[in-house]
Amino acid sequence: MPVFEAHIEDVEQRALTGTLPAQQDVIRLMTQAYQRYRTLDEGVVADYIPILGRADPARFGLSLVGVNGFVHELGDTAVGFSIQSISKAFVFALVREALGHEKLHEVVGVNNTGLPFNSVIAIELNDGSPMNSMNNAGAIATTALIPGADAQQRWDDLVGGLSAFAGHPLEVDQEVYRSEAETNHRNQALGRLLQSYGRLAVDPAEVVDLYTRQCVLTVTSTDPATMGATLADGGVNPVTGERVVSAETCRDTLAVLASCGMYERSGEWLFEIGLPGKSGVSGGIVAVSPGKGALGSFSPPLDPAGNSVRGQRACAHLSRALGLNLFASARFDSTEGALA
Ligand code: GLU
Repeated sequence: MPVFEAHIEDVEQRALTGTLPAQQDVIRLMTQAYQRYRTLDEGVVADYIPILGRADPARFGLSLVGVNGFVHELGDTAVGFSIQSISKAFVFALVREALGHEKLHEVVGVNNTGLPFNSVIAIELNDGSPMNSMNNAGAIATTALIPGADAQQRWDDLVGGLSAFAGHPLEVDQEVYRSEAETNHRNQALGRLLQSYGRLAVDPAEVVDLYTRQCVLTVTSTDPATMGATLADGGVNPVTGERVVSAETCRDTLAVLASCGMYERSGEWLFEIGLPGKSGVSGGIVAVSPGKGALGSFSPPLDPAGNSVRGQRACAHLSRALGLNLFASARFDSTEGALA
């Protein structure tokens, strides 16, 4: 039984937001962050999915999309990469939108495991619960909840939803798909383990395949920025103007990203950067500032948890410089307005 019964949906929700700095300041500060970390040589490119090991470690793309539709891009923003775990955030949002506030909480969970993203022990320690939708087991359980008559319809809805977040049709990279499908024995085992605990209502092989395909959609760094900016904009894609999900879904998705989005470094990330974020093993990061916009980055070398090193540094820099940290406040200035 959850501690918070969450029967507060009848309370009208207000959002406190603020705005990004002026565009010329955003451009100047992003250039500063990009230049500072472009040549940083730390981290290791993932190769447990064989084809990812071929990525060029020098690549670095940095993008920002504001809720007003402003887009700024620096560096390798035209280089495509597989979205990998960043997809988990947006599939969570689609399932949350379809099934409501409580369902994912009940079936998957919203707490961090403190263990690696592909951990088997985490499931065993928690009575078969995958604990949250941002690790592999939880993402497989979340993808399994996508409504639909058959696998094809579920896939069409999944890819259609993620494409609406990005603002253009996303496509599977067949080469990455083959490399991943041939070697994802651990994910198949996670699917079977969830099944053994009665936590999957659909065929594990089918759902792991769907999950694998969601991970190999090709994006550039501007795509996660646009997708994140949609979550920052109450569910409306600020570039296309299309409503993709509700504001309530954005709130729930960002809460899960804040606690679980950056693998077992989610606490450190929140401590340093103060934003909901999600990263993927191909080197992408999205960091979302509710009501303001989102950063997207791509740089393949990763820290031991699986987070892009350059991307994290750039996000830390920009969270401070652009005033994005959710936990930062300044003393109330009574000359600027009254509280009454
Ligand atoms: N498709 C990858 C896997 O299942 C995603 C991992 C990640 O980006 O964290 O291992």
